[in-house]
Formats: sequence, C-alpha cells, structure tokens
Amino acid sequence: ETRRYIDNIRQDFPALQQQVHGKPLVYLDNGATTHKPNVVIEAEATFYRTVNSNVHRGAHYLSDVATEQFEGARKVVQEFIGALKPEEIVWTRGTTEGINLVASTWGRKHIGKGDRILVSEMEHHSNIVPWQMLCAQVGAELIPIPVKDNGELDLNALAELMEPRVKLISVAHVSNALGSVNPIPDIVRMARINESVVMVDGAQGVSHFDVDVLQLDVDFYAFSSHKLFGPTGMGVLYGKEELLNDMPPYQGGGEMIEHCSFAGTTYNQLPYKFEAGTPNIAGAIGLAAAINYLNGLDRKVLAAQEEALIQKAHAMALELGGIRIIGEAAKKASVFSFLLDGAHPADVGTLLDQQGIAVRTGHHCAMPLMERLGVPGTVRASMAFYNTLDEVDALFKGLEKAKMFLL
Ligand code: PMP
Repeated sequence: ETRRYIDNIRQDFPALQQQVHGKPLVYLDNGATTHKPNVVIEAEATFYRTVNSNVHRGAHYLSDVATEQFEGARKVVQEFIGALKPEEIVWTRGTTEGINLVASTWGRKHIGKGDRILVSEMEHHSNIVPWQMLCAQVGAELIPIPVKDNGELDLNALAELMEPRVKLISVAHVSNALGSVNPIPDIVRMARINESVVMVDGAQGVSHFDVDVLQLDVDFYAFSSHKLFGPTGMGVLYGKEELLNDMPPYQGGGEMIEHCSFAGTTYNQLPYKFEAGTPNIAGAIGLAAAINYLNGLDRKVLAAQEEALIQKAHAMALELGGIRIIGEAAKKASVFSFLLDGAHPADVGTLLDQQGIAVRTGHHCAMPLMERLGVPGTVRASMAFYNTLDEVDALFKGLEKAKMFLL
C-alpha cells in the first residue's frame, strides 16, 4: 500500500521519470537539492505567464495580485514552521544567506571582544565561515562542539563548554554529511541557563520531518526552498520578533526604508527591514506551492518510507561487506554516507553515475567533519520520500559492480 502511495507521488515529479546514460535515473542526491513536483513548476510558470508584476508598489491591479500572492506565501511558511507571526519570516536566497544575515546584523551588534560562539564539528561550511568572519571582525572566538565517532553531537562536551562568554550556539538540525539529527531541545535547555542565543541551520531538517520553531523555542531557524522541493534562489530566515526588531538592517536599498533623505534614513518595519530590493517573488510563490503540496501528503507515511530506505541501506551494507558506514547516530535522517574499502569515493561516484545512480562524493562542504572522522570524504546517498526500496537495491547492484571494477 505504501508502495502504491509512493509510486503515485513519483508521478508528480517529472525529473524523476528520465534516463541518464541510458539507465533509469536513481536520484539519491536529495541532500544537495530535491526535485520539484509539477505544482511547483506550474506555480512559478503561471506567475510569469500572468501576474508578473512587482510587489508592494500598489501601482496597479496585477501588482496588487502579486503582493497578495507573495505575502500569502509568507503566511504559508509561517504556519508550516509554527511561527507566531508572518513578520518573523524573512525571505532570503537560502540557508547560507540566512546565517550570513544573522552573523552580520545580530552578530555585529551583540558579539564583542572575548565573546564565544559555539558551532558543532559537523557543520556545513555555511554555518562555520560566516561566524569565523564575524569573529575576525570583532575579536570573538569560534569554538567547535565535539562530535562523537558515531556522528552524534557530544552533549557532555557541550555542557562543559557552556559559560557566560558563550553568546550564541549555532548548529545544524540534521547533518548533511551524516544525517545525524541533533537534539535541539537539549541544546536550547543548556543555552537558556546561560542566556545564549540559539540558531539552527535547518537546511536538512524541514524536508525530513515537521519543524515547529515555537515548540523548539529556537531564536533563529534558516532553511532553503530548493531542498524542500521548491525553487532555487529562495530561502527563509525565521527569527523571534523581539530579536529581529532589535537588529540593524542587512542590505540597504528599496523596500527596506520607511523614509529616505540625505539628512538620514529610517527603516521599514519587519520583515521588510531585511528585504532590500525586488525579492524573488516567483520563488516565494513556488516555495508556498511546495509546502502546500507537502501539507497535502501524509507526512507520517513519508517519514516511515524514509526510515525504511535508510534501514534497508544499512542492512544491505552489512550484507555486501567491505563497506564502512560513516555516521551511525541513534537519531538519523535518510542519509547513507559510506566508504567502499580500498576505493576512492570519487571513483565510486563515477561508476554509480554510469549506471544512472546519482550520489554525491567528497567532503560535502563539511571539511572539518571529514578531518575529525579521519576520512578523505564519503559517498553519500541522500534519500527523499519519493525514493523506493527498489532504488536502494539498484544502489547496491551498482556498488557490487563498482567493487568488481575497482577492487
Ligand atoms: N547547511 C546545510 C546542513 C546544508 O546541507 C546546506 C546545503 N548543502 C547548507 C547549509 C547551505 O544551503 P544553501 O546552499 O541552500 O544556502
């Protein structure tokens, strides 16, 4: 029954229906980006075909329609992540921009000489480098929270790192390289004792399970539309109203001002204060379409499917032998990261690609994590709910071939 449900869902994703190198595409690179259902593609195309006007200008009928759809999309996102108000939803280009925004505005205001920022050793570069840049500017310190050999965050080590100088903890909800799900509630609890602010990189979180920012009680949460079945170039930064209000603006330009004069400029209210320039209107509408699509599915079934996929991959890895699974956290999303003994990850990736199987190889923008685990990189098969158990079989058939060829 689940099989039929998933097979039907797959029909909604045109890019899944193609062949690559003469083989049916087995797309296992969802950590990099997910495919888009027809409703998302149609929502963007319809916007450009019909409304296609700038927002917030109040100039004419179509501009009003564009504004309505654009602000409607903000409400869809607000409800999707359980934020209190649409004003707490700031449009960005993606997770990367959300983190950079917080680092350059909140960070420059609140982080000073001798302060500390904690990030984990498993972070994507986009949750490391913006903080490094900030620390260099203000004379603060960036401290890594250790990760255990199995890819779990070391909570005891985090507890030891907590002290009054720690002003911010920024961690991934889900590791893109290993799939480890970080215990955000535990991290928030520790942070509150210390009055540290908590930012979560949700790039790999929202696509795997329901996220409720109020329940998590995080201060900032950033994610990308393109990893959530929506368009590229679009993202969301959630921030608590009180924090966002207190932050200086990010970029200067149109839309973000209340009044502009050479004598001095005053800034617009939330969220426009952070949204200088013409936004990605079609992107917002496309993201809302992706969320509405997800809301129409049974997310319990989707989660069960992803769990079945990762369980099967782990079981087959044991069976095949010669595979070292990298990252076996107790709580883990459907990310199967591994090394084939004696083979370079890039060679494995090339051989899989020739068989129509798309995976990612290398350091996954998490070089410090690779260094910590003592691996040159990994092969990563990152699964979405539209992947099938047959595709896991195909992956292992591909790996058998790769083994024969390479070893
Ligand atoms: N954080 C994590 C955990 C990610 O997986 C990614 C994307 N690979 C990012 C941040 C950056 O997202 P984007 O490139 O969409 O800004």
